[in-house]
Formats: sequence, C-alpha cells, structure tokens
Amino acid sequence: MLNATMMKTPLTLDLLLERAGTVFKDVEIVSRRPDHSLHTYSNGEMYARAKRLARALVAAGITPGDRVATLMWNHYAHLECYFGIPAAGAVLHTLNLRLQAADISYIAQHAEDRFLIVDDVLLPLLEQFRDQVNFERVIVFNFGGQGHADEDYEDFLETGRPEIELPEIQEDWACGMCYTSGTTGRPKGVLYGQKSSVLHAMGFCLPDAGNISVKDVCVPVVPMFHAMAWGMPYAATMVGARQVLPGPHLDPVSLLDLYERTGTTVTAGVPTIWMGILQELEKAGRRWNLSSGMRMIVGGSATPVSMVKAFAAHDLQVIAAWGMTETSPIASLAQLRPEIAARDADAQHWYRAQAGLPVPLVDVRVVNDDGVVAWDGESTGELQVRGPWITASYYQRPDAADSFTADGWFRTGDVASMTPEGYIHIADRTKDLIKSGGEWISSVELENEIMAHPAVAEAAVIAVAHPKWMERPLACVVKKPEFEVTPDELREHLLQNFEKWCLPNDFVFIDEVPRTSTGKFQKLVLRERFANWQWSEA
Ligand code: ADP
Repeated sequence: MLNATMMKTPLTLDLLLERAGTVFKDVEIVSRRPDHSLHTYSNGEMYARAKRLARALVAAGITPGDRVATLMWNHYAHLECYFGIPAAGAVLHTLNLRLQAADISYIAQHAEDRFLIVDDVLLPLLEQFRDQVNFERVIVFNFGGQGHADEDYEDFLETGRPEIELPEIQEDWACGMCYTSGTTGRPKGVLYGQKSSVLHAMGFCLPDAGNISVKDVCVPVVPMFHAMAWGMPYAATMVGARQVLPGPHLDPVSLLDLYERTGTTVTAGVPTIWMGILQELEKAGRRWNLSSGMRMIVGGSATPVSMVKAFAAHDLQVIAAWGMTETSPIASLAQLRPEIAARDADAQHWYRAQAGLPVPLVDVRVVNDDGVVAWDGESTGELQVRGPWITASYYQRPDAADSFTADGWFRTGDVASMTPEGYIHIADRTKDLIKSGGEWISSVELENEIMAHPAVAEAAVIAVAHPKWMERPLACVVKKPEFEVTPDELREHLLQNFEKWCLPNDFVFIDEVPRTSTGKFQKLVLRERFANWQWSEA
C-alpha cells in the first residue's frame, strides 16, 4: 500500500459557496416576491449574507450538529440558509409547508429543531402548531412585507459580526435534513452530509445527468423543502449558473412568465407542474417566448411518454429523473445514449420518460425472489441502490432497519426492470401494484396510456377489491375542460397497447386527482373513496 500524495481537502459546502462568492460573484440570483415583484442581487451578496447568518447562529449558541429549521418558499434568503446553516456546522432542516400542522410539529419535535427561520407570509401556518413545539428562537424573514412581533431575520444577520469564528467543518458532518412524506407510516428523517452533498452536486451537473453549467439559468420549481430542491441550488451555485427562485407563485402563467423574462434554460419539478404548463401552452392566444430547447427535469412520479412527446412539439426537452428523499435525491436521469438518440422519435420519447441511467457513483440492482434479475427489459423486482449519497439509515428510527439489506443496499420499494442499455424502468411502487388473480398489473403503465388520450388531463389507476380476482384496476379519470370521452373509447384506446385482461374494469370520472404535499397522486385517498366500488360486471 502506498498513500497518495494528494491533499486531504474536506469536501464541504463551503467550497461551493467560496467559488460562487469569488469566481462568480457578479452572477445574479433572482427571486419572485409574494406581490410578484422581482428581487435581484448577486452571488457576492448571497455569499456575504450566508456567512453573516453562520456567524449569527454561532453567536446565538448554535453548535455543530444542532438542527435549525426553515419554513420558507424558494427565494434568496432560503438559499442563504442552505449555505449559512451548514457553515455554522449546523443542520438545515427544511420543513414542508404543505403538510398538516400536526405533521410539521411531529417532524420538528422528532428532529429536535432548536431555531426556526420562517417567512412572514407563513406565520399563520406556524401559529397553528407553535405551542406544540419547542423552538428556542423564531426568526422571521420579511418576504411579503408583513409586520410581525418576532425577531427579524435582518436584525439577526446584523449580529453575525466578522470577528466571530466559524467552526472547522468536517466532511462527514450532517448539513441537511429532510423527512420522507410518510405515505407509509410516520415520516422518517434522512441526514445529508457535507461530502455527500458536494458529490451529489457534482454528479447532478455532469453532462449526461442534469447537464448544468455556467451557461444555464436554473429555476427549481421543486420546493426547497422537497429533498433539497433535488440539489439544484447547490449544483447551480457550484457551477456559477444564474438562479431564479419562483417564491410562492407556482401556477403555469407565473412560471411561464418567469421563464420568458429570465431566459430560463433548465427547470425542475413534479409532473403536475408540467401538466399545467402544457395545458397553458396549448391554449390558443398568448404565445410564450421560451428559450429553445429549455430542459425540464421531471421527477417525483412517473413521467408519461405522452408528456415528453407533447413538449417536444413545443421545442422543449423533458428529462425524467428518478430519486427519493433517501437518495439525496438524484440517482438516475434519462439522457439519451448516442445509439438511442439515433433511433426514431417514438423510441427516443420512450427512453426519455424512463427513470434513466444511474448517475456515476450510484449502483443499482433489481432483486426478486430468484435473486438479482438480468437486464433484459422484462424481469421485474425491487429496485435497490447504494452509493455515497444514498442514506444508510434513518435518523433515530431503528425500527426502520428493514429498508436496508444485509449486504448494504437501500430497498426503494419501487418495482422496476432494467433495459439492456442500462436504463431503469419503474413499473410501480410496490403498494400500488394491482394483484389480479395470480398476476400483477402496473398502475403506472395504464395511467400513462390513459393520459396519452387527447381528451384526458390526468388519470390515476387504483386497485379495488374484486370478488373473483382479489383486486382489479379502477381508472379514475380527469377530463380536459371542454372535452368528452366515454369508457368505451378509453377501452379502445388502451387495447392498442394492452392485453384485454390488464384493462381497468371500470372508468370513473372525477374532478381532480388528490395530491400529496409534494404533488404526487395520493392513491390512498382514492382507494378509500372507492373502497366499496360496485363493479359493473363481476
Ligand atoms: P415519498 O416516498 O414520501 O413519496 P419521495 O419524494 O422520496 O417521497 O418519493 C420517492 C418516490 O417517488 C420513489 O420511491 C418513486 O416511487 C417515486 N418516483 C420518483 N421519481 C420517479 C420516476 N421518475 N418514475 C416513477 N416514480 C418515481
């Protein structure tokens, strides 16, 4: 053995911040305020304020490892927290403002958050659970210009005097914390590390992954409380990309307006957001002047192939990504290998809608009762992952040890197959698969195909008990405004690509698909609502 001669530079978020604050100090960060006006400042200012925040936290008694929570929209002060809290050696715990007050207070208590930094416009939400949590200090950021009686963020920054020393950060220290949304039990906490976050940012920026560079204008629509906005703020800061943060305005017109004004080149969010954008683009009248080939990174749920195709017609590029809170979250992205880019448009669209190729340093395998499955595009099993930014445990949840295999892999609970070219194809989440007789039917594949029908805005397919087959698929369909479609027409449409026995027995038309706090289809709610569904034919 011979040791390398290389320096032992700790991989910390400070390296990213220093680079942005020096090399790219003039690069702009734009944030949209609640009144729709734009706030603009530079990386240099963000750098100075993040350091001041770190010093203020140290002066206030925050020590390495302490949790400091945020309850904030996407904007520049949240970005300052992304860097300032870790620079104090503390852990940035982003609270999900779309959860019920009782869930937020459970999470804040479980994490033992010491301080909270909150947007003034979110104080009414805080008031719903404030007496149930033990924040030592509540610091309010003046985002909406609303008066308040708490400590002000700007005054707090003032206390971060330059002579206050910051701790020497170690690369294995935790710097961020997120809780899973808890669709299967109580939410579980994941701790991101300084090193894991740096490596994740590097992986995300690679050309065959997120392909983010100094030439980009990045808009994370995904909230900064949803798995660290998928790492986009760290990635963009690292490479000196311009950042545009949409604040609370996530409706299609506000987003399109922001894209147009700022020349956005890359944006990221869940399929729901893009469905809305697509409907807006397809409306007659207003034409939007978007950057040609703007990339839309889509994750959090399956990307319908029809969506990839529809955006391609507008010269916009959908890039599907797969990940989980537990995977930091970017584990794979659907960029095209050259041999696939040389195939016809339909093939390209299909691959673009898949979970994609594992990002370098992330290992994947698919396991079923017979062991690790071959990459034949057909054999399915549970997707398992491992790598430097995949969690190896949950924060203070020894009861959740069965999420990890004895040989060190994380069990995702997603059912997948691998194509021979190395693309991950997600068939379903284990709990959403429909067990019909002895066969499994994928709800996701049916949904994708139903959503490809021109009259359909959205569709969720759920399993409902059936006297003969145990479970059968029920399709819950949202029609596009001013369109009509019948169950028989949808059946005809599905028969082009599915065997008859896979088709939903019934179609029910609903006004909207219920969603989770992060914008995913909340099938549990639909399953409860239609639990006693009377099948039209037994
Ligand atoms: P939660 O597990 O609470 O929903 P996450 O945001 O961590 O919260 O979600 C991770 C899950 O989202 C994955 O396990 C998977 O089921 C789903 N998901 C994410 N990306 C994709 C994708 N590209 N295709 C299909 N499902 C996806």
